[in-house]
Amino acid sequence: MSASTASPAASVGATSKGTARASRTVNATSAATATPAAAPPAEPVRLFNTLTRQCDVFTPLEPGKAGLYSCGLTVYDYAHIGNLRTYLFVDLLRRVLLAEGYDVNHVMNITDVGHLTSDADEGADKMELGARKQGRTAWEIAEFFTQAFKRDLTRLQILEPDIWCKATEHVPEMIELIAHIEEEKFTYRTSDGIYFDTSKLPDYGQQAGARIGLNDEKRNPQDFALWKFSPEGEQRQMEWDSPWGRGFPGWHIECSAMAAKYLSVPFDLHTGGVDHIPVHHTNEIAQTQAATGKLLSKWWLHGEFLNMKDRKMSKSSGDFLTLQSLIDGGYDPLAYRYLTYQAHYRAHLTFTEEALNGAASALRRLHETFAALPEESGAAPESAAVERFRAALREDLNAPQALAVVWETLRDDTIAPGVRRATLAAMNELLPLGLEQVSQAEPDQPPAEALALLEQRNAARKARDFAAADRLRGELAALGYEVRDNAQGSSLARK
Ligand code: AMP
Ligand code: ZN
Repeated sequence: MSASTASPAASVGATSKGTARASRTVNATSAATATPAAAPPAEPVRLFNTLTRQCDVFTPLEPGKAGLYSCGLTVYDYAHIGNLRTYLFVDLLRRVLLAEGYDVNHVMNITDVGHLTSDADEGADKMELGARKQGRTAWEIAEFFTQAFKRDLTRLQILEPDIWCKATEHVPEMIELIAHIEEEKFTYRTSDGIYFDTSKLPDYGQQAGARIGLNDEKRNPQDFALWKFSPEGEQRQMEWDSPWGRGFPGWHIECSAMAAKYLSVPFDLHTGGVDHIPVHHTNEIAQTQAATGKLLSKWWLHGEFLNMKDRKMSKSSGDFLTLQSLIDGGYDPLAYRYLTYQAHYRAHLTFTEEALNGAASALRRLHETFAALPEESGAAPESAAVERFRAALREDLNAPQALAVVWETLRDDTIAPGVRRATLAAMNELLPLGLEQVSQAEPDQPPAEALALLEQRNAARKARDFAAADRLRGELAALGYEVRDNAQGSSLARK
């Protein structure tokens, strides 16, 4: 394994006990690497790892396999198109790994509990607040927005994760993990909950940890809640009994617990938006390090934000655009997909109507040009073009470069039209742009005016008025049609 194994363990930080355990993890890793590969992936995929802050060749813990965990949506409202940009980036990652021969196991959680309105574990619970706003129970709105989220993913042709897991269905696993963290002496109790003591991990957040704020009883500004007590005398809609008292889990613990359940720790890849770097992911790493001495995931990939020209796109402010609002505006969801691929996933993207219109018309042109290519049975894709396309995506998922290859190929007259069609269809499998639905264009139907002239010419010929027939032939030629006379009669062909 490269530096990516060693440096996170050092920089995330651990007690001396934790560090010793982490090095055992490294040994376990090399043992796993020695196992012969079933089907070695074809070509190296280079990815930017936030932990090492560089692009490295992706090396899985187990050859040919990739365990991938993605932080899912907090379901107190619809996903906004910023959230969906992150899931489009994850989808591209997954498809590239699949195309390169990895057996990907993709786990995504649904945050349906205990996410407070501030990172400092203060404020109202977003689920209960959302429920009150909508006049429904927290459980009902969680289910409603989970289904809406899944529908959005389908409409964007995002592959479903192999495993969906809901926080509310994994509270016992979270309690067990908190108990381990407590056994390792990383916790303390305040009047409102059980907190993680970040000062026990000397290098905690050295790279990115944010000071999320102090309340009177917290020992350090970065400390975060593992378990929050239900306020005295208040009946919460979502609450559970625990060894520490009735309450609900902190936000970060759900991902550490569910990732450990469905993927082994450490696993290969963990994704989220850049907002997760300083708090949520730093804390996931800290919790797992404290409980197990292991680094939660080897690779951490983060998608940059999509924002509006003059403001952030944020769910909690209520000021955001949904995929449905784009559809209501007459846009194809894939035009939004196309828009996000015009920027690299690690680059800021500003959403404007002009940008979406640009993407929509580019996609329309792509479909039209593709439709004009003849379907030839047995035509194989042009391997050099497919390889250039895949090479762009293997280089840290460079979608803008891959789109450039799509257009180059579409316009490359040196490739036979039928082969071009097959080549683009192959690219569409990796980067879906709706080409599978585009059928070969119907041959041009002559306009009614031309058909009327043809009819008049047939009548003139029948009446043996050859002068009129010749004049009508000339008129049709001016419209761009050639008259072909044959035994069955006359027909028109585009000149
Ligand atoms: P949340 O529902 O807030 O937990 O966010 C779901 C996912 O969307 C997380 O991976 C966030 O990092 C990501 N995200 C939130 N806001 C944006 C945005 N404006 N642009 C891109 N991704 C975002
Ligand atoms: Zn998470």
